[in-house]
Amino acid sequence: MFDIIIIGGGPAGAILAKEAAKNFSVAMIYEDSKKPCGGLLSDDAQRFFAERTMALPKELLVDPQIFAVDTIDVGQNLWRRYQRSYINIDRKKFDAWLRSFVPENVVKIENHASKIVRMEDRFAVSYNENGEEKTVYGKYLVGADGANSLVRRTFFPNKKIRHYVSVQQSFENAENAPFYACIFDKETTDCCAWIVTKENETIFGGAFVPKDCRENFEKLKTRLKSQGIILGKEKETEGCIVLRPKSTREIILGDGKVFLIGEAAGFISPSSLEGISKAMYSAEALADALNTEKPLKEYKKNTRKLRFGIFLKTVKCPFMYAPFLRKLVMKSGLTAIDIK
Ligand SMILES: Cc1cc2nc3c(=O)[nH]c(=O)nc-3n(C[C@H](O)[C@H](O)[C@H](O)COP(=O)(O)OP(=O)(O)OC[C@H]3O[C@@H](n4cnc5c(N)ncnc54)[C@H](O)[C@@H]3O)c2cc1C
Repeated sequence: MFDIIIIGGGPAGAILAKEAAKNFSVAMIYEDSKKPCGGLLSDDAQRFFAERTMALPKELLVDPQIFAVDTIDVGQNLWRRYQRSYINIDRKKFDAWLRSFVPENVVKIENHASKIVRMEDRFAVSYNENGEEKTVYGKYLVGADGANSLVRRTFFPNKKIRHYVSVQQSFENAENAPFYACIFDKETTDCCAWIVTKENETIFGGAFVPKDCRENFEKLKTRLKSQGIILGKEKETEGCIVLRPKSTREIILGDGKVFLIGEAAGFISPSSLEGISKAMYSAEALADALNTEKPLKEYKKNTRKLRFGIFLKTVKCPFMYAPFLRKLVMKSGLTAIDIK
């Protein structure tokens, strides 16, 4: 029996476990699977670490470090470069590094939580260990379990949130691929696709509406040839759900004893799909709130800025995603840098 059970050990779960362990007994149940991810730390994620005097060990970094994003509109044949500062990381190592801050007194269960039951005064979370069903109990339950959250599906089945299927492939000898690109193509997706370089590999991925997602992924790969980008033979394919809130009303914080943080709550940018910083900030916001008399009310208050940020991204979306407006912005060359 614990004060808090956290399901998920990604950025949200790890930061919450680190903070909540100061005042509560905590169990964290998580699967150490490889999360499909671009593995780029945005300005906001960098700020999170700067504020907390945390420095990334060099083992987390991967080649090359990237100072620009190439924006490519395939249908309208436009290509622009914008200066940005990302940190290119190995996502699996990054998650493990964050979990290394979780103190010893947190009970870590590396397993898949398969069932959750709300009892009168507690939650029961079950998992299977060597063929035997085991159960942990907690007064509070936190879903830090990402886009396909079991906690969200169990307790908030009617609170829908827009979702896409993300497909990613890696390639060894891609030709003419930029280090990092954000790709738009209204023929295949109303969201976006991307290219990221990791060591000697080019990663090409995209977010697609679930219907015909794989066909549209393949079609976009072919359409990239019109830009001179030849990806070649793929090495590995991975896929997962990615959330893209249409409005901040799709963000669910919880109901008093059960809480959602990170992408499970809907904390992800609908314009860029950046979610690591939001996972960490929302986790800290809940950790602070749990120390108060009315945690849900406080959590709402603590995430006001985060939710307003997502609201601003929803306002930005039409400018990025409406082909006509995007063409205007890209053609104007506003804030773009020269490609020498
Ligand atoms: C293809 C892709 C590329 C992306 N690229 C970027 C990027 O470059 N930069 C960026 O900032 N964001 C990116 N994002 C978004 C970002 O990955 C997520 O928003 C972020 O990881 C959310 O963190 P989280 O801790 O909330 O959830 P997650 O990182 O998804 O972690 C959830 C954890 O819960 C565990 N879990 C889930 N269900 C269970 C269960 N039933 N039992 C036990 N454990 C469970 C998982 O194994 C995982 O450890 C990308 C997303 C996708 C899909």
